[in-house]
Amino acid sequence: MDINIDIDFGKLPTPCYIVDERLLIKNLEILDSVQKRTGCKILLAQKGFSMHAVYPLIGKYLKGVTSSSLFEARLGYEKMGKEVHVYAPAYIEEEFDELLKYTDHIVFNSFAQWERFRSRVKSYPGKRIECGIRINPEYSEQEHAIYDPCSRHSRLGVTLKNFRPEQLDGIDGLHFHTMCEQNSDTLERTAGAVEEKFGEFIKHMKWLNFGGGHHITRQDYDIETLVRTISRFQDKYGVQVYLEPGEAVALNTGYLVAEVLDIVENEMNIAILDTSAACHMPDVLEMPYRPNI
Ligand SMILES: *Cc1c(COP(=O)(O)O)cnc(C)c1O
Repeated sequence: MDINIDIDFGKLPTPCYIVDERLLIKNLEILDSVQKRTGCKILLAQKGFSMHAVYPLIGKYLKGVTSSSLFEARLGYEKMGKEVHVYAPAYIEEEFDELLKYTDHIVFNSFAQWERFRSRVKSYPGKRIECGIRINPEYSEQEHAIYDPCSRHSRLGVTLKNFRPEQLDGIDGLHFHTMCEQNSDTLERTAGAVEEKFGEFIKHMKWLNFGGGHHITRQDYDIETLVRTISRFQDKYGVQVYLEPGEAVALNTGYLVAEVLDIVENEMNIAILDTSAACHMPDVLEMPYRPNI
């Protein structure tokens, strides 16, 4: 990571998160170059980065946000004000009408959810909300089981076996999300699996959402393969491709600044900080992530 020595970390109150807008802009320019080269649309997945103070800046480059709850959708609607997409494994009855107020695209996790809510979406006054189905291509190169949405008995997305072509009337797009921190060679193989299973349905769609997990702003990311894969799908199937990265938007753009409060000794020196893994970096516990210190 580039540590910008022009930030005087010693002057900051701790603990605090610092985002360097210059680095964020660098990432946004890389993402925008993919949009410009392919005509695809890129959304911010808010679960990866929801620092809404910089949503106006992000909104200068990206087309909108994706969300998975009422308040996330509202955050994107109020703080960025561009396209708001929503996907959740199931929607909550009492929240649904308010959710639609903020939503432009809604993705359903099952045909039962689609049937249950379709008339409320289709009769929503004043705008046409686009509808999609999340598919499970049963192909993932995920090494960590908790992050593998294609593992056995996964609840996420409709498998080909459960796909109901007779219920596609009113469906504008398909959505898959099977990647995490991966390069475009994984996308290319995943897209091949999606095509093999669902290709005949993609032809009838307006859009195809490639989900998140694309590590586009990482140093060794192969943008050419990404561009080729997007363009191939758009040309062959006549769909608008969406990407919805979270992590890639903010990757390596900031710091968690903490202070060493004490050093204790127990067979080794141990620093006591004014941060905690559980509160400030829970993925360090849940996932084998290790921060650069
Ligand atoms: C987590 C998630 C994303 C964003 O994933 P990143 O790894 O942060 O790029 C996008 N779409 C869906 C449906 C997700 O669950």
